[in-house]
Amino acid sequence: MAETSENPRLQVIQGDITRLAVDAIVNAANPTLLGGGGVDGAIHRAAGPELLAECRTLGGCPTGEARMTGAYRLPAKYVIHTVGPVWHGGDQGEAELLAACYRNSLALARRHEVRSIAFPAISCGVYGYPVDEAARIAVRETGRFLAAHDLPAQVLLVCFGAEVYRSYQEAYRETYRETYGEAHQGTTEGRETGRP
Ligand code: ADP
Repeated sequence: MAETSENPRLQVIQGDITRLAVDAIVNAANPTLLGGGGVDGAIHRAAGPELLAECRTLGGCPTGEARMTGAYRLPAKYVIHTVGPVWHGGDQGEAELLAACYRNSLALARRHEVRSIAFPAISCGVYGYPVDEAARIAVRETGRFLAAHDLPAQVLLVCFGAEVYRSYQEAYRETYRETYGEAHQGTTEGRETGRP
């Protein structure tokens, strides 16, 4: 898998989230939590019917919030289901709701002492969020959370296609500078390459 890793705790990778042996994978679910297409369908297929059975007990999830379940036949330990906003043009609170998805998923993960977590590009499929903008929010919010907390230790932003991957790499480069700036340089042990 290709990857971008200027910050060892935050990586952009291209791949299939259902195959990752991280502590938690995030599902871009719909408010019913009863399954759908895209990454949601892939996660339910790979996890098996027990996942849907547990989701039925949760009574849905409002947009911007997150709920946790087991991961059953997936290599991950948990699935964190979050509901991204449907894109309606950008003036209906979409950016704040998408940011809340990342923050709430990370806070829930942290409460369960999740060390590694993988996110798909929430809202970037059927929900129609412009990928460049969604990528900036994903990188910014995860970067801020990592800067403020020790857990999760590792965040993967998983891009399914090459186009999404390119948007995320660009957002990573931009946001990395904004979020971490000079203060971050030299603060991380084990970095092999410094930025110019
Ligand atoms: P939403 O309804 O929130 O837009 P989708 O599942 O339609 O959610 O799409 C979200 C993103 O997940 C899209 O970029 C899509 O390409 C991606 N995706 C689909 N399947 C997978 C998978 N197996 N692993 C990672 N990402 C995936």
